[in-house]
Amino acid sequence: MRDYYEVLGVSKTASDDEIKKAYRQLAKKYHPDMNPGDKEAEEKFKEVNQAYAVLSDPEKKARYDQFGPEAAEGNGFGGGGFGGFGGFEGFDFGDIFGDIFGGGGGTRARRNGPQRGDDLAQRVTISFEEAAFGCKKEIKYTKVDKCGECGGSGCAEGSSPKTCSRCNGTGQVRVQQRTPLGVFQSTKTCDACGGRGQTIENPCKKCRGTGMNSTTKTVEVTIPAGIDNGQRLSLRGLGNAGKNGGPAGDLYISVVVRPHPVFTRDGFDIYCEIPITFPEAALGADIRVPTLEEETTFKIPEGTQTGTSFTLKGKGIPFVNGRGRGDLIFKVVVEVPRGMNENQKDALRKFAEACGKSNYSKKEKFFSKIFGKDKS
Ligand SMILES: [Zn+2]
Ligand SMILES: [Zn+2]
Repeated sequence: MRDYYEVLGVSKTASDDEIKKAYRQLAKKYHPDMNPGDKEAEEKFKEVNQAYAVLSDPEKKARYDQFGPEAAEGNGFGGGGFGGFGGFEGFDFGDIFGDIFGGGGGTRARRNGPQRGDDLAQRVTISFEEAAFGCKKEIKYTKVDKCGECGGSGCAEGSSPKTCSRCNGTGQVRVQQRTPLGVFQSTKTCDACGGRGQTIENPCKKCRGTGMNSTTKTVEVTIPAGIDNGQRLSLRGLGNAGKNGGPAGDLYISVVVRPHPVFTRDGFDIYCEIPITFPEAALGADIRVPTLEEETTFKIPEGTQTGTSFTLKGKGIPFVNGRGRGDLIFKVVVEVPRGMNENQKDALRKFAEACGKSNYSKKEKFFSKIFGKDKS
């Protein structure tokens, strides 16, 4: 594991502000939104977040300085608690992102202040080829949005909210508590208005005064070429609407890629097995090779062994940055003929008789390893 100070590019004596500044720059640079589908950026982003989670917490930082990363993460922060693209568990996502992107992090304490809307998650299933070359998909999802009837005020037409008379609009009321030690005064959320500071005497019928409604939305998502199964896209501001003027949450789209009938994928390379006949392997042949686009032909040499792999450069998955592509690697597998008639068997027996040891060097070497030279 790399040193956390090194990850953030700061010295061991860096101040809290310097650490925060370095983190903000790096988190922006490697954020999945800026680098969709880029595994390396995702790793960096993870690393940077891990480092910051420890170095921004005075207690963890002290433990880390003294005992190293295990000690710092042993308590509370689950090392590498990162849920794919964009989301991570273990510390307050909202605070940090509010910080970076100007969202409403850190405002949750005040109930009548702006609150950021919840993030939503949705899944989209696409074909192997759509993942390779990119596509547009319509995604239908349900979100909480401002009520269309009252425009979010929660009031029926022609009326408006009234300042709460119990708390005079502050959303908080003072309470006195008598205890054996004396009278204590504290504040709590006003229960007449629920902390909003306003009451609605004539609520909107559609949203029952909440100002919010559940609605079904359709959004067209552009899925970039090269995306892989399990990656996430984030659509900023398409989550639930915020409260009291707070920003909306985000919509995260998890991409599920259906398997291909013949190809498998590893990074940007694709793989398949192609059955060939014994004469094709022995004599060499132009064989048919499928690609993600059209079919092509490939010349395999005389004496090709079963299990040999060949590479078609640049016929794999396009890189997410749009420059270049992975390779197509195919393995030829000799299919032994089945259901032969007598004529075919005769021909094969004659062929076998015509062959000598020099045609089967592998078989010869195999036995000479055990029995010594030429005892067969
Ligand atoms: Zn309404
Ligand atoms: Zn009140």
